[in-house]
Amino acid sequence: MRYIEPHAHMVSRTTDDYERMVTSGCQAVIEPAFWAGFDRSSAQGFYDYLRQITEYEPRRAAKYLLPHYCWLCINPKESEDTVLADEVLSIIPEFIGKPNVLGIGEIGLNKNSKNELAVLEKHIQLAADHDQMVLVHTPHLEDKRKGTKLIVDALKNHPEIDPAKIIIDHVEEHTVGIVKDAGFWAGITLYPESKCTSARATDILEIYGTEQIWINSACDWGHSNPLAVPQTALHMRRRGHDQEFIDKILFKNPHDFLSQSPNFKAL
Ligand SMILES: [Zn+2]
Repeated sequence: MRYIEPHAHMVSRTTDDYERMVTSGCQAVIEPAFWAGFDRSSAQGFYDYLRQITEYEPRRAAKYLLPHYCWLCINPKESEDTVLADEVLSIIPEFIGKPNVLGIGEIGLNKNSKNELAVLEKHIQLAADHDQMVLVHTPHLEDKRKGTKLIVDALKNHPEIDPAKIIIDHVEEHTVGIVKDAGFWAGITLYPESKCTSARATDILEIYGTEQIWINSACDWGHSNPLAVPQTALHMRRRGHDQEFIDKILFKNPHDFLSQSPNFKAL
């Protein structure tokens, strides 16, 4: 079996995780910029983090023969401080030219606040100005549906960015339709305590189809499972889905989406 892990925060994971992912068939891992489990105290902290995911982490992954790519931003959780956000936004362009960068992300909303929305708008403009793809994080639980609608509206204000180059992640049953109807890609996150289980993810695929959608583990510093994607393939097989279905969701779809970036090397 082959798969791509299109959303993983590997800076928080161990070398054992790299080994287990590769031996489970992982062909590439993609790391969106995100919260590190604590609020960074300055733009310098982000500068070092962006160096970590563009320079150091690809080398760590390469020791396991795993191509590593990343997305750049200040995440929605820390963008409540708009002064800090502006400072971080000003340093992102110097990293856009790095060879493992695929675009701007994971931007989006956390609490759907006015400040978060203002910083989201600036990130979308940055992506448009630099002809970058976009990966979007959507809020949790009761904020998800409203936040997803706000995000879709903000993105629609930028028709210069092809919707096929935008993925809205962490969709669930009540938001996947909003995302797909607007022409964007959708990501389903498999997470042990929140977000989707393998069963719910497979339900969504059976109901909404297999086009413009991927699954990911979003494994990070919290309780999460870096093998959630290949383990979901086992669940799909138990339901009677064939190898073609599994390969499309786990490999072909992320491969097609990510290959829109010239930096993503075809596997
Ligand atoms: Zn994430």
